[in-house]
Amino acid sequence: LDRKYLWHPFTQMKEWIEENPTIITEGKDCFIRDIEGQWYIDGISSMWVNIHGHRRREIDTAIKEQLDRIAHSTLLGLANAPSAELAGEIVRLLETSLSPFGQPLKKVFYSDNGSTAVEVALKMAFQYWKHKGVEGRHAFLAFNNAYHGDTLGAVSVGGVDIFHTVFGPLLFKKFTSPSPNCYHCELGLDRLTCNMKCLDAMEDILKNHAQEIAAVIIEPLIQGAGGMIVAPEGFLKGVRTLCSTYDVLLIADEVATGFGRTGRMFACEHEGVVPDIICLSKGITGGYLPLAVTVATDELYNAFLGDFRELKTFFHGHSYTGNQLGCAAALACLKIFRDDQTLDAIQPKIVFLKSWLKDILRLPHVGDTRHAGLMAAVELIQDKEKKTPFPYGEKMGWKICLDVRRKGVFIRPLGNVLVLMPPLAISMENLKTMLKHIEDSILTIMHH
Ligand code: PMP
Repeated sequence: LDRKYLWHPFTQMKEWIEENPTIITEGKDCFIRDIEGQWYIDGISSMWVNIHGHRRREIDTAIKEQLDRIAHSTLLGLANAPSAELAGEIVRLLETSLSPFGQPLKKVFYSDNGSTAVEVALKMAFQYWKHKGVEGRHAFLAFNNAYHGDTLGAVSVGGVDIFHTVFGPLLFKKFTSPSPNCYHCELGLDRLTCNMKCLDAMEDILKNHAQEIAAVIIEPLIQGAGGMIVAPEGFLKGVRTLCSTYDVLLIADEVATGFGRTGRMFACEHEGVVPDIICLSKGITGGYLPLAVTVATDELYNAFLGDFRELKTFFHGHSYTGNQLGCAAALACLKIFRDDQTLDAIQPKIVFLKSWLKDILRLPHVGDTRHAGLMAAVELIQDKEKKTPFPYGEKMGWKICLDVRRKGVFIRPLGNVLVLMPPLAISMENLKTMLKHIEDSILTIMHH
């Protein structure tokens, strides 16, 4: 039935239907199990969403209890308790994490996935200027290699050529600033001496075009789907300073980095940066249900207040906005952060991962390794001296991942980049097993 009726995301279906798919039936802790009975370590947290493991009793129970009351009612014209409680909880978390550094993020707008959280942010930023009576701010500034989702607004601010170029004619206007990609610096510079010239390039754009730009959108600390590119220390802070200097809004897309992934609750905390809008999704429900929030400052929210007939309303909303099951799962997920002291518990795992990443740099076809907390990448390279990548069609990343899968670890590459993103709750022992199998597969496939 899968082969006959299903169209898989980001998948060349011609290949898919010729292969034997792994079919998942069950999960437990950081493992998923297929119908043959084989267990795999969920090395990418089921597309970066899982936090506390599969079948966490507390989240299971919260969903079941909510189900006994109601699964869903709309937020268009009605309120419900779980969505209000969760909004309070998110604002409190953001305040704890970021309040010393700037204007608090205070108003929570719900949607149901990362892309819509970004659409909401872009539309809010755009309309904010209209309400302020400022005309002409019709463009955004985004970074090369950025990935903000697959809906067309999100694609407009995306910078991953293989995904986004084809849709060019459909997209709105954007200015592209260089990616903080030190391993393959776009400006041809060396990190030791560059003084982050990539920020100067951004400033040049703002100097000439700030009046046309509604907002800058950034994945703080690490660009995920564009290749797990870790920005140098101080880059994010520099971006915030430029946004303030040139009076453009800053949107932080923490869809991937939020909820502990980088070792702190939110990535912005590492550099003491507060955006004007933040987008959160993925880990919010612990990887159980689709839910997202876009959180804005009072300054932004207040610009939308007015008489009914003024049409200042934010005309945006989805069928499942504020879904109670999702909000109940999220409340349980955030409670586990407190009960398990998740952020403390991951620190030794981050230390271990970091030393492993450093160690495997010795392998001749490992060009670069990098990480932000428990978001890590191993970049495979054909010629380490010349930094020549393996050709895209060679599927080198996939070859390694398939070999690792035979050993009982599921990971998925981004081209030549192996992505390692286990659930935060993974035990040290299972993390070590996962890394050992990956190292063995790199050795088997590439060095024999
Ligand atoms: N923004 C970022 C930074 C992401 O990593 C992703 C998903 N990988 C998205 C947005 C889109 O989220 P979704 O897939 O839930 O639409």
